[in-house]
Amino acid sequence: MPDGKAAGEPCLHLLEDMRCALFGKPERPAVCGTFKAMADVCGTSQAEALWLIDELEAATG
Ligand code: SF4
Repeated sequence: MPDGKAAGEPCLHLLEDMRCALFGKPERPAVCGTFKAMADVCGTSQAEALWLIDELEAATG
């Protein structure tokens, strides 16, 4: 996604089972490979992570 994505829109490379289609491939963006999961961004569950990212996108979009 060379032009990025709009807030609330999933990455084009996110598979239905929530895995990354580019994982392990050189074309995976460097920022994805260097991201470290943190409780204040990821919470303690997938549902909490999705809620938190919605909040962050709404606050910064
Ligand atoms: S890790 Fe990066 S490229 Fe892969 S699905 Fe997530 S945002 Fe997209």
